[in-house]
Amino acid sequence: MPAIKILPVEIRNKIAAGEVIERPASVVKELMENSIDAQSTNIRVEVLRGGKGLIKVTDNGSGMGREDALLCLERHATSKLSSADDLFSIRTMGFRGEALPSIASVSRMSLVTGLKDAPSGVFVEAHAGEVKDVRDFPGKGTSVEIRDLFFNTPARKKFLKSDRTELFHIVDWVTREALAHWDIAFTLFTEKQETMSIPRASGPRERILQIYGREFVEELLEVHVHSPGLTLAAFVTRGEHFRSSKNHQFIFINRRPVKDQIISHAVYQAYEGLLPHDTHPVFFLFMDIDPGKIDVNVHPTKREVRFENKELIHRFVSSSLREEIRKERSHYAAPFLEPSPHFPQRPFPGSGVNPPSSEYKESLVRGRGISDNIDLLYQSSLPFLYLGDTFIAVAGKGGLTLIDHHAAHERILYENFLKGMNLNSHPLLFPRQIKLSHKEYVLLLESKDTLRGMGMELDDFGHDTLVVRSLPEALEEADLRGILSDIAAALGEGLRPFIQLKEVLAARIACHSSVRGKEILHQEEFHHLLLRLENTETPDQCPHGRPTRIFISLDELKRMFKRK
Ligand code: ADP
Ligand code: MG
Repeated sequence: MPAIKILPVEIRNKIAAGEVIERPASVVKELMENSIDAQSTNIRVEVLRGGKGLIKVTDNGSGMGREDALLCLERHATSKLSSADDLFSIRTMGFRGEALPSIASVSRMSLVTGLKDAPSGVFVEAHAGEVKDVRDFPGKGTSVEIRDLFFNTPARKKFLKSDRTELFHIVDWVTREALAHWDIAFTLFTEKQETMSIPRASGPRERILQIYGREFVEELLEVHVHSPGLTLAAFVTRGEHFRSSKNHQFIFINRRPVKDQIISHAVYQAYEGLLPHDTHPVFFLFMDIDPGKIDVNVHPTKREVRFENKELIHRFVSSSLREEIRKERSHYAAPFLEPSPHFPQRPFPGSGVNPPSSEYKESLVRGRGISDNIDLLYQSSLPFLYLGDTFIAVAGKGGLTLIDHHAAHERILYENFLKGMNLNSHPLLFPRQIKLSHKEYVLLLESKDTLRGMGMELDDFGHDTLVVRSLPEALEEADLRGILSDIAAALGEGLRPFIQLKEVLAARIACHSSVRGKEILHQEEFHHLLLRLENTETPDQCPHGRPTRIFISLDELKRMFKRK
């Protein structure tokens, strides 16, 4: 007897389901994509207990006839592909004919579907992929209901996370599909409550606005580029509104949400030199690529694509974005060789000397150099030199110190905030409404009490909007939308304790209010910065772990010049 046997169909289906259906959110994704392929304009998703109790997706699309309603549960049954050549002209979300049989094999499924002009629709019920009932049933469009997901694969079921976590994965998928398909209306019901309601939009910008709110969109730079067989519509961080997490990064290729290292790398490269360490740009990239130039059949869940020419794609994304980002920043991204502000070698406040005169201070405020006439009682200063607009070189005792003044300032502010963080709440004269993504909204509301302890009073305004009623003073001028996003990201990573959140907040405030790269420090300010840095607990690192200063000793210099 041969040792090898062909596996029975139930086992084959379970194995395939293992690849395609990892968790309730994968079911939601596959069902929504089927609805999208069926030209629906309205998709409604309902879930109970993070999808463990129920997942139901209803659409107003083409529907299926009776025969198709049964065929669709068969493995490798699809209406989207008829020859191998078609694999390179795919415009639909699905094409592998795997999703429905995979889902059906690990759940109890019922399906109601009807063609638009047919007198009646059909109802099909299947348990573990086996059809139990088929009968006429009124209906147009399609509605698929999944109960008891993984009831017959206990190992998979055991790996499911809490209802809340599974729900977040579902929200993520509804968000991704809604972003990619802005011309379709989406609604999500959780525990019978409407939690997301996104009407049809005219384009990606409006869709981003619907999901994340106006303040969020206004921080985004819009870039459109066409080249033969390649189109890019990008919405990326403008100015300095970087985030502490990668939560708002999306890539869509031919409207398919994908993960792609090459394209992500291209975006980061476009920000080279502008992106502070450990911060991340927000990006939404909508790319259209000739389907003949990509392979979408490389991943069972179709989350990845392969490019015929990846260097070309990388260059296209990176250079298109870089140019626009630079244009935007050109007014303060001073070129390295621009003459640095010239200051006469001024005395330097040693210990116990008089504070600077008010005239001196005034001249600093006005941003001028220091007039030689002002009589100052300072000791001779350490000479310092600006290298570009971020680094300062100081010739000190025994060597050369290079300082990143932005990082140094961040460290000082961060510790100040942590030590004496004034978390006293200041009521806002005009409470601010902030629209958030659904996930951010839920996370922040859940931690409302902790946030109150930090001086942030938030109220629920419904529709993923919070009303901010009071704030710690330090935050009043800050980019509130960005701060809330960062806190939500920290909460999403499971940082809950007060102290951890306080650190997130302190780092954020420090980053926001520290000296911006474009600001040039004057001698006195610079000296003050050095003293304060020296007095911090960790003077050599900024709150994100970057160095604030690097010392090169004379000995090292000698070695570099081969004099030692
Ligand atoms: P694929 O999407 O890769 O073709 P599926 O298993 O997801 O494979 O679906 C099988 C087939 O069932 C589809 O090709 C389509 O013809 C039909 N179908 C599935 N869902 C719907 C729907 N919501 N509306 C209309 N037809 C559908
Ligand atoms: Mg499908």
